[in-house]
Amino acid sequence: MPLMTSEQYVESIRNMKRNIYFMGEKLENPVDHPILRPSMNCLIDTYDMAFMPEYEDLMTSTSIITGNKINRFNNIHKSIEDLNKKVKLQRLMGQRTGSCFQRCVIMDAANAFYSTTYEIDEKYGTDYFERFKKFIVKVQDEDLIVGGALTDPKADRSKGPRDQEDPDIYLRVVERRPDGVVVNGAKAHLTGITNAHEVIVLPTMAMKPGDEDYTIAFAVPLDTPGITMIVGRQSCDTRKMENTEIDVGNACYGGVEALTIFDHVFVPNERIFMDGETDFSGMMVERFAGYHRNSYGGCKTGVGDVVIGCACLNAQYNGVEKVSHIKDKLIEMTQLNEQLYCAGIASSCEGYQTKAGNYMVNLLLANVCKLNVTRYPYEIVRLAEDITGGMMVTAPSEADLRSEEVGKYIEKYLVGAGVDAEDRIRALRLMENLSLGTAAVGYRTESMHGAGSPQAQKITIGRQGNFESKKALAKRIAGIKKED
Ligand code: SF4
Ligand code: FE
Repeated sequence: MPLMTSEQYVESIRNMKRNIYFMGEKLENPVDHPILRPSMNCLIDTYDMAFMPEYEDLMTSTSIITGNKINRFNNIHKSIEDLNKKVKLQRLMGQRTGSCFQRCVIMDAANAFYSTTYEIDEKYGTDYFERFKKFIVKVQDEDLIVGGALTDPKADRSKGPRDQEDPDIYLRVVERRPDGVVVNGAKAHLTGITNAHEVIVLPTMAMKPGDEDYTIAFAVPLDTPGITMIVGRQSCDTRKMENTEIDVGNACYGGVEALTIFDHVFVPNERIFMDGETDFSGMMVERFAGYHRNSYGGCKTGVGDVVIGCACLNAQYNGVEKVSHIKDKLIEMTQLNEQLYCAGIASSCEGYQTKAGNYMVNLLLANVCKLNVTRYPYEIVRLAEDITGGMMVTAPSEADLRSEEVGKYIEKYLVGAGVDAEDRIRALRLMENLSLGTAAVGYRTESMHGAGSPQAQKITIGRQGNFESKKALAKRIAGIKKED
């Protein structure tokens, strides 16, 4: 069954007994919870669209291992074309949802695991690659969603894993058994984890000799005993619980993150993909981060398209669509957005084949892409707020619009150019959602910190920048013969 229907997907998640908490309560029915359901709707679309002929080429692929037709979100990239389609798929999904759609982490992690496990085996004679292939074939053939877990809480960032007051601050092995290991720790900011079947875990950074117990990579189902997900708050999130569609801005879609606890979780040997090989932890993290930074050239430009469209709509409803400075701002927003896409596509086009046979993105360009993402969406949103006007944060509620007493005043005074008050408020609320509400998590703060904060990209750009070869170019042209 390589492609699940969305109904099968929802039922498969409903049947799992998971520990999910939100605002102090354990959620007995997370699938239908109003805070979580818009987030699940994004994933539902990733299943539905795989069956739509117009999206089939982007939404599906063939497995590098079995040749079966699979959802592209579970793809191991077989070519540069696959790397390009990845970014195009992400732009498409961003356009459709106006939010983080949460299914990319397995695609990015799986490709990093595929190539890194191969190279660990080559050096140490381990069998991680075969173990990982078995796991990813299951994920592909059962069309599962796998959340990714990278970021440890870190506590005192001036100290490494072993020097923290609490030894669990970085996830670690606390017990070794013949059939597997037991781990303790927590992973933060897990995107879409409440909608996933399994979680794949990797070290948060390059580990040093002595950090072997912290150098653990594995995957387990999310109903494994000892796993607890604590859903994060988002700005204006409880509007989703207020029985209003308009005030939410984007009532259909959204992203959700959770702090995920691993309290003495057992991992069987066949699900361990790295265990103590500190010299490969940096490679695994760098490759995963590289793929995910390339992803942002797709997903953020897709959401950017929605922001630009919403700014156009608000300009039209304000009767200023043809004013020259408004047009100029829309053009500038488009230029910034397409620059992000350019770097995403370029980092795919300049990819290369790894020893394991899958394709890796160009690390330098992927990091340039993500560093631009930490800046341009902020400018795009600034211009969008400028165009939209202050009413996006002062418009009355849907309840007042529907009120028998005051609704008539809202309809009379909030009417726009060729548009009634209700549709005008809908356009204002969507902009509020994208720039300040729940979608802003995915468009603004995630642009800054998702896939690593700006300094992490600068470190990689510094490493990949190849300053010595550039110096040699300058010396040749300047006629400098002296060796350094
Ligand atoms: Fe996908 Fe972008 Fe969300 Fe990451 S931030 S999961 S790449 S949509
Ligand atoms: Fe992300």
